[in-house]
Amino acid sequence: MAPTAPLPPRSTAIFASHLLTRSDGAQAVLHDRWVLLEGGRIAAITAARPAAEQVFDRPGRFVLPGLLNLHNHAFSEAVARSQTEDGHGRRRNPSIIYTVLLPLTRRGLDILTPAERLAVARLGILQLLKGGVATVMEPFRNGLGEMFDAAAELGIRFYGAPYLFSTGDAVAGADGTVRYAGDDGAADLAAWNAAHARWEGAADGRIRLAMSPHATDTCGPDLLRAAAARAREVGAPITTHLAQSAAEVATIGRRHGGRSPAEYLDWLGLLAPDLLAAHCIASSDDDLRLMAARGATVLNCPRVFARTGTVAAFGRFAGFGIRTLVATDGYNADLLGEINAASLISKIAATDMYAASAPELIDAVTWSAATAIRRPDLGVIAPGATADLTVIDMTHPHLQPLADPRRGLVALGNRANIDLVVVDGRVLIDRGQLVHGDEAAITAAGAAAIGRIWDLPEARTAFAD
Ligand SMILES: [Zn+2]
Repeated sequence: MAPTAPLPPRSTAIFASHLLTRSDGAQAVLHDRWVLLEGGRIAAITAARPAAEQVFDRPGRFVLPGLLNLHNHAFSEAVARSQTEDGHGRRRNPSIIYTVLLPLTRRGLDILTPAERLAVARLGILQLLKGGVATVMEPFRNGLGEMFDAAAELGIRFYGAPYLFSTGDAVAGADGTVRYAGDDGAADLAAWNAAHARWEGAADGRIRLAMSPHATDTCGPDLLRAAAARAREVGAPITTHLAQSAAEVATIGRRHGGRSPAEYLDWLGLLAPDLLAAHCIASSDDDLRLMAARGATVLNCPRVFARTGTVAAFGRFAGFGIRTLVATDGYNADLLGEINAASLISKIAATDMYAASAPELIDAVTWSAATAIRRPDLGVIAPGATADLTVIDMTHPHLQPLADPRRGLVALGNRANIDLVVVDGRVLIDRGQLVHGDEAAITAAGAAAIGRIWDLPEARTAFAD
């Protein structure tokens, strides 16, 4: 499908009352500058207004590199949205990954038409863009290739990560242990290779793939080794779920000679700078020291855990010297709200008001995130960098008066303050609204498609209390 976003104007100038930049290797904020974009590149940062075809002269804006949200599930979390709050549908089980989300997503993919799957994918991408996200990494089930179509169409920068499982039929018992018979991971690796052949580098390079073996307890050693080797052969980042629960820690210990989930990945050669590991909440301090030593990245998604009363504190991981990013897990695609939660939850968990500072958390969705996927052209506003920007309207009443833009953004900001999202020099969001597309139609169609899953008898049973 051809992208509908038109070619960008040859040049765009954006005024920044506050501009996030880097100086001598550290984050810095400049004031009253212009950012000049030419085609898909940042051409210059100037004090005087440059000549440009398209000009955004809006005082009070905070211009940041395009935000990176490197762990999101547009589809599976939509299935749970507003169904699983306050413990509803959980039967006292904080983790519904294996009992509800994976089975319903699998059934959903079977019953929805391609048009309905595309509608859900579009809604997810719309939520991300309106939340200020320029780049997303999205792990999803095989059979949801429409995620790629929606990303290409709506213009977001997209790292698609079709899951690999040692079996598609992993089931969890009442004790949380995942059981699966056989090891047919080769089929998923073949499907990943087909997706890579079709999509890697599509949409002017905005579409890429990441290798996503689902989790330590759903992927056996042979699959993990093969997936890592293939990812390294083609230079794809590797992402997985790691130490999501005490049950997973017990399962891996039983299966693999007492190893922790982190030790299991290290044994197989996956614990390395190209690994982005989601959650890690059941990791021991020794595990986190090991991850720091190996240079692996933690993807911290605090709100999806907070809803079940579980602490996932950014500050704990960062405190071990691990590169720690903040992402949404699809629960609420509001990345600014997520860094606000990361700040508060880290301070509460450490009983330390200095934990998880605003510059650290902004770094976790800009520079550090770009570094984790080896994209030095993203995550920074500098001449020659890729023209991905997220612009926040700091004149919003809730953000005034404003002494410090970074502290104001993290402590007070959220998705309602997004002004512009620019990807590859294309303005995708302007004044918070989708430029090319009908938001109401996308929202209605996506919600209707999820409603078809909610109508399934097994969904009614799962979500009945
Ligand atoms: Zn996840």
